[in-house]
Amino acid sequence: MYNNDSLNVNSKGHLTIGGCDAVDLAMQYGTPLYVLDEKKIEQACNAYLDSFKKYYNSKGLPMYASKALCCKELCRIMKRLGMGLDVVSGGELYTALSVGFPAEKIHFHGNNKTPDEIEYALKSGVGKIVIDNLSEIDIIENMCEELGINANVSLRITPGIDAHTHDFIKTGQIDSKFGFIIENGDAFDVVQKVLEYSHLRLKEFHCHIGSQIFDIEPFVHAAEVMMDFIKEIKNRFGVTVEELNLGGGFGIRYLATDNPTDFENYMKAVSDAVHAKAAEYGLPVPFIFIEPGRSIVGEAGVTLYTVGGIKNIPGIRKYVSVDGGMSDNIRYALYGADYTVLIANKADLPADDIVTVAGKCCESGDLIQEHTHIQSAQVGDILAVLSTGAYNYSMASNYNRIPRPAIVMVNDGEARVIVKRESYDDIIANDV
Ligand SMILES: *Cc1c(COP(=O)(O)O)cnc(C)c1O
Repeated sequence: MYNNDSLNVNSKGHLTIGGCDAVDLAMQYGTPLYVLDEKKIEQACNAYLDSFKKYYNSKGLPMYASKALCCKELCRIMKRLGMGLDVVSGGELYTALSVGFPAEKIHFHGNNKTPDEIEYALKSGVGKIVIDNLSEIDIIENMCEELGINANVSLRITPGIDAHTHDFIKTGQIDSKFGFIIENGDAFDVVQKVLEYSHLRLKEFHCHIGSQIFDIEPFVHAAEVMMDFIKEIKNRFGVTVEELNLGGGFGIRYLATDNPTDFENYMKAVSDAVHAKAAEYGLPVPFIFIEPGRSIVGEAGVTLYTVGGIKNIPGIRKYVSVDGGMSDNIRYALYGADYTVLIANKADLPADDIVTVAGKCCESGDLIQEHTHIQSAQVGDILAVLSTGAYNYSMASNYNRIPRPAIVMVNDGEARVIVKRESYDDIIANDV
């Protein structure tokens, strides 16, 4: 196991999550099962909220990037804690609004928002629409004209930073489907265009350099590039943009060997850079937004499975198959993501076997982890995969018509269902 204050091993040798015995949870709610520790989520949010008091004199707001895990209860928690919210689709927006999340604290993202989504966002009164391509500018302007409103907009800028992370999850470099590039002048052209429109209020510049980033340096560099950009826009257009969104992407622990930067160090280093640039250029310190997703829910989540077939191929490998797979966790199949795996009912025993954990989907690539250290597995054991709070449920599918698992929220020994397990009737609900 790795160091995570929501996990423990009890006197039965069972894994516990948020004070609940993982084996009991599996018996009571069935498997596969997503388990989330509410305390861990609250701690992460409060740490971000507090750091804005400390490093920005409260002139800033963390926005939970809801794509990491979006459901009504998560939106309620974010609302209660005073977080902002990032959404990237009409469905995420609908989920947030369905629990009365304040629209003005929602930012609407996406590199290809549909006209329907833009209309929905504008009519709902979202705080900002983050413009990510030229064609949506006209759509927003025309809809505002029709609705007789103005829209607060942000521009997604590509700062040209190559963060050291997997190719599929880095977004700040020039060759990206996201954002307007500074180097080739696109970013300046789009500012000029937005300023010419009468219904668009240019409030913010935004950047997001990637995900699962461990180094502080790319974040600091991005903040500096963005402050330079604010200065350059002021010089060219006489307009001072007073809000700066520095995105998300803070890495979390998947393996015992992962060593993510303490986010306090990140907050301090970036705040120092922003303040230094503001002083150097005689600019106001912008109101700062950040958009953590993974680092809020990732380590709060564990997935529980029941071990089914075990297939040993001597000299090659041993497959341990579980009752879920890429339908509830596609991240290994998608980008070879690392995970820590253990047998929840043998959590006190040494992880002295090396196995490949396979799912039940009809794909050879349906693997949860390869060549991973684990306690000796037997049919009926409860297998736990750690750090599955982010980009697991939110990326889940019904491949092979497998119902999505339930999500159980645990808090100090208490458990409650926050998303029900799908039934076979749910699977055919939209079939005609
Ligand atoms: C994905 C994304 C985030 C969240 O990234 P994490 O790595 O989960 O923190 C924030 N902002 C934008 C624009 C994103 O696309």
